[in-house]
Amino acid sequence: MIDSYKHKGLRKQLVNEIRRKGISDEGVLKAMEAVPRHFFFDSSFLKFAYDDQPFPIGAGQTISQPYTVAYQTELLNVKKGDKVLEIGTGSGYQACILACMGAKVFTIERIKSLYIKAKALLPEMQCNSIKVFYGDGYKGLPTYAPFDKIIVTAAAPLIPEALVEQLKIGGYLVIPVGGSGGQVMNRVIKTSGSDYEIEGHGLFRFVPLLNEREDI
Ligand code: SAH
Repeated sequence: MIDSYKHKGLRKQLVNEIRRKGISDEGVLKAMEAVPRHFFFDSSFLKFAYDDQPFPIGAGQTISQPYTVAYQTELLNVKKGDKVLEIGTGSGYQACILACMGAKVFTIERIKSLYIKAKALLPEMQCNSIKVFYGDGYKGLPTYAPFDKIIVTAAAPLIPEALVEQLKIGGYLVIPVGGSGGQVMNRVIKTSGSDYEIEGHGLFRFVPLLNEREDI
């Protein structure tokens, strides 16, 4: 796929739009300007890649709205070298943004077809340091824990304890919590081995976080 001047121009406009909507973390904005979002779309839908909208990626799932990606990433406060776990690889776009910011990314997807696609696509991007796993994100990745940051890109009915356990002390978990009507973006800050604080941020609407792997 080609990243043309036209694509770069559209990306600049998208980043300006996101900035106007309130995102101010320059690292996030820079990554969003650098990563070609259209690479994560099927070729027949390329013209939708730079709208600030979510878009279907198959298997009933969506690539998140760029503003939402920026919002979650800003809350995560990503630092170069952070070990970050993402639940819900989907297209791989969010993972690529994190890697572009210098994070070491571990990402889990429960739908096999999406996992296979992302695993093939991500090494083609200039995103180093992304490991893609096929599994149930509710369980996290105990073998690779602890993580500096954890981001969940699907709606959770509650905060999964396994994910808080796999956070370092001082680490952040950013997770949309709520039912199908909408979710509050929660930022969980782990304050000690057994305690954490929860901040509530904006309202969003995500596809649900589901239990167990799916084999299609
Ligand atoms: N971050 C993605 C957005 C994907 S939408 C992107 O940038 O494109 C949310 C994804 O979470 C879907 O692909 C869905 O299959 C996945 N998902 C839902 N429940 C899950 C679970 N328990 N473990 C891992 N992935 C899950």
